[in-house]
Amino acid sequence: MVLIQKEGICNRNICPVLPMSKLVLFVIIYNCIIFLLMKGDLHNHTYYSDGNHSPESLVLLAKEKGLDYLGVTDHDRIDGLKEAQKYGKKYKVEIVPGIEFSTICPLNTPFSVHLLGYYMNWQDSGLKKYLQTGKKKFVKKYELIVRYLRKKGFPLSYKMLQNEKGYVGGGAVVYQLLVLAGKADFTHEDWMEYVKYLEEAMATVPDDLSYPSTLDTLKLIKKHKGIPVLAHPYQEEEEYCIPLPVVDELISKGIQGIEIMGSMNPSDHPYVQEIKNKARAHKLIMTGGSDTHNINKRCEMGQGTFEYNGELLKLKKNINS
Ligand SMILES: [Zn+2]
Repeated sequence: MVLIQKEGICNRNICPVLPMSKLVLFVIIYNCIIFLLMKGDLHNHTYYSDGNHSPESLVLLAKEKGLDYLGVTDHDRIDGLKEAQKYGKKYKVEIVPGIEFSTICPLNTPFSVHLLGYYMNWQDSGLKKYLQTGKKKFVKKYELIVRYLRKKGFPLSYKMLQNEKGYVGGGAVVYQLLVLAGKADFTHEDWMEYVKYLEEAMATVPDDLSYPSTLDTLKLIKKHKGIPVLAHPYQEEEEYCIPLPVVDELISKGIQGIEIMGSMNPSDHPYVQEIKNKARAHKLIMTGGSDTHNINKRCEMGQGTFEYNGELLKLKKNINS
């Protein structure tokens, strides 16, 4: 009886069902518009890798620049993510958690490939263990590099290379070499000249201390529910460009996005156009990320990233469950 009554009410008031679906539709459209209007930058570093900013100052900078969301993507590290989320909440900037993995590219070209993994289950103990092992290898590698360069006559020490959170990277080596040579006020040519010493030292490091392969890392990102995005395929300043067959290989193996726009990618360059076409053809997410480190004011936050305002929505739709 109760059931019949309910059915009766339902039949008489069938119209209210429609406003409800209209409301849902309105909410969906409203959210899409909000997402499309949001401005962000999906590629930034803190001092937990080779950036200068603490997570708080990075979030504050994003706020100052009027960004609604911020990718925090330290190199092979998750150490700054918790802090970034805390300050993201405090200053109302949505944090997109990420890791920028350094990898060796599949076709054995001399280029390294950086893969961004967004929204990974970064609190997972297996992933933490994996990153911890990488950290130990990293330390050993740079100890060997320091030893080699000392033999070459550069009075370098491991301690000199560490930033305030203990991170050491290739950039710090080149920077210290320049400082030791009395070229603290260096030019781009100076930098390129001293990169050669780093490359020479790197070549002496045994293979088991080198970075993992790009394809293994791609699998790792997916295993940990992340969205793999190819970082900065083109950087004019460093005359760096990932060969197109490598990009094709990565697409065939399942990358879900390409960082098309950043502070170092001129959008009118034929290579960038080519990459864009590939991304469109394969329905990949096109992202924008400045790669802010704030070292020597290179790569300004937000620079060149606003063309991709809908990217956050697309990333969220692609979160792998
Ligand atoms: Zn980066």
